[in-house]
Amino acid sequence: MPHVSRFGDMGSKQAGQSQKKNRVPRSLALGDRGIDPKTGRVGREGSGCPREARQSLGEGGSILTSTDLTHPMSFDVIILGLGAMGSAAAHHLAARGQHVLGLDQFTPPHDRGSSHGGSRIIRQAYFESPDYIPLVLRAYELWREIERDTGIRLIHTTGGLVIGNEDGDLVRRTIASAKEHHIPIDVLAPAELAARFPAFSPHPGDLGVFEHLAGYLVPEDCIRAQLQSAIHSGAQLHFDEKVLSWTAAPDHVEVATTRGSYSARHLIITAGPWAAEALQSNLPLSVTRQVTAWIQPKGGVEGFLPDRFPVFIAEGAAGKYASYGFPAIDGPNGGIKVAIHGSDLSCTPDTVDRQIHDADVQQIIVSLQGRIPAIAGDLLRAKTCLYTMTPDEHFIIGPHPRLPSCTIACGFSGHGFKFAPVIGEILAGLATRSSSTHPIALFSPERFAH
Ligand SMILES: Cc1cc2nc3c(=O)[nH]c(=O)nc-3n(C[C@H](O)[C@H](O)[C@H](O)COP(=O)(O)OP(=O)(O)OC[C@H]3O[C@@H](n4cnc5c(N)ncnc54)[C@H](O)[C@@H]3O)c2cc1C
Repeated sequence: MPHVSRFGDMGSKQAGQSQKKNRVPRSLALGDRGIDPKTGRVGREGSGCPREARQSLGEGGSILTSTDLTHPMSFDVIILGLGAMGSAAAHHLAARGQHVLGLDQFTPPHDRGSSHGGSRIIRQAYFESPDYIPLVLRAYELWREIERDTGIRLIHTTGGLVIGNEDGDLVRRTIASAKEHHIPIDVLAPAELAARFPAFSPHPGDLGVFEHLAGYLVPEDCIRAQLQSAIHSGAQLHFDEKVLSWTAAPDHVEVATTRGSYSARHLIITAGPWAAEALQSNLPLSVTRQVTAWIQPKGGVEGFLPDRFPVFIAEGAAGKYASYGFPAIDGPNGGIKVAIHGSDLSCTPDTVDRQIHDADVQQIIVSLQGRIPAIAGDLLRAKTCLYTMTPDEHFIIGPHPRLPSCTIACGFSGHGFKFAPVIGEILAGLATRSSSTHPIALFSPERFAH
């Protein structure tokens, strides 16, 4: 019996568009984007040029259409969701010559899921577990590869500072991971830390761990670059097309959307905070509301510019979540972005309160002002985003527990973005060979199967 999964309301909302300046090289802007109302396919048809990438730079920096009319309805692999992970999978699969259809309910990059807000920390000394380090090292290589291929700068190296009590988990585990994998760090006593980074005022008993190769990614640029690379390799990408249901037999899948039906040998589900709805499984996923705030520090951004202020993660008070932030990457009027990592506010992408309240911002300021006194400045703007948490805060990546023709990747627990390209590589392996050369046992969906 094929497995049938139906989900969600039938509507497809237009997402908010990123207003970031588009950095795609002009030579790649090939035409206007349009959606054929009959077929739902994105892009102008009739090019007479199968697998030729077609792209446009739409309003707000949206790009990306492609056409491949050779096999309009049947594919090797269908990808449900083209955010951070789905766009990476599309790129890797298409580069391997797979006939790929990628579907997204919105036009990525968009601001309704987990991959917006202008910055994501990338770092190597992984306190969460040293098991992630081989993956993050490979991710660095792959981000660099995409930079070379697209001409879009993706990794912005500022260095990264982890700050917390010398006996606390955050600092101890960061140092242990760095030692195990020979990652370049400097361990800074409070006086050294304050001298090197005057914006910080460490607590007595704090240690700083400065990681040289840490920095940030601009998620919207990364997703554009991955989608663009996928298109160049022949992927067919449909935007503003929501998957309504899918059916999986052992050797093929059928997918029904707001615009049509498609079949493939394999389905990859990378639905981010919509994963519970898209998977219709019992995986223990919980979505939390996260708030990020851009604050103009007291006294201005001078001491917070990227050449003198690193990305950072600061240990929370007992029982409280850690906080983190970025230098002033948007110039003198952009402020610095700060946030708390984690929240008790469970929601779904449909029910989340996207309004910002004074208490949201106060909580962030209070969490940081002990170590960064200038943070008690003016709020410039704030935005909500969504984490998809697993109970152990490790990712879920692997074959669907019951359906071999379906691979799932979800539950990135607020720290997945930096890994996106290596996760794309892993998903390509799982979809084409049922295996990955990367160490992914930690992420097995089976750990939640009982
Ligand atoms: C505030 C915040 C800060 C973070 N900071 C960091 C950080 O510093 N470093 C780091 O490494 N990670 C960080 N993360 C985590 C990281 O951003 C996420 O792990 C990552 O973006 C998740 O990507 P995704 O592809 O799973 O989800 P998304 O990028 O949200 O993509 C899911 C896609 O699936 C589509 N979709 C869903 N359902 C359907 C359907 N039925 N039909 C069609 N399309 C569908 C959606 O439209 C969406 O485009 C942060 C996350 C947040 C929210």
